Amino acid sequence: MRYSKQRSLILDIVRSNPVHPTAEWVYEQARKEMPSIGIATVYRNLNALSDKGEIGKIAGAGGADRFDGNISQHYHLQCKKCGRLIDLSMKTPQTEEKLRQMIKDAFALEAEEVTVSTTLLSGVCEHCAAAGKAEKTMQK
Ligand SMILES: [Zn+2]
Ligand SMILES: [Zn+2]
Repeated sequence: MRYSKQRSLILDIVRSNPVHPTAEWVYEQARKEMPSIGIATVYRNLNALSDKGEIGKIAGAGGADRFDGNISQHYHLQCKKCGRLIDLSMKTPQTEEKLRQMIKDAFALEAEEVTVSTTLLSGVCEHCAAAGKAEKTMQK
């Protein structure tokens, strides 16, 4: 099947940006290339692409759906403070204990809620953790 111009553009945007964009973000980028594109078209194409497995969709993470150009199996750690989604590449499902350890090793941070039944973990990212520490020091 041939993709429409809009769909190829949207796919490109999601794949080339490892930020797990929202539909609004994709729309802002798409408009730069294709000023006539509408947000409804962006939504429709994002959903069609995720239905086909061309891109990932993380439903309702911190409000709006996020889209993911990385379709290999991986976990996400979502920062509770800034909402950032961090990719954690893991080939196979892990135990809770192992996940916590991997997050600690990779980011030097604690995951607070680790639910192995979902691939979405909750914690605080390194930037927010550093900001939190600075605040505490200042209060002393
Ligand atoms: Zn953060
Ligand atoms: Zn991801």
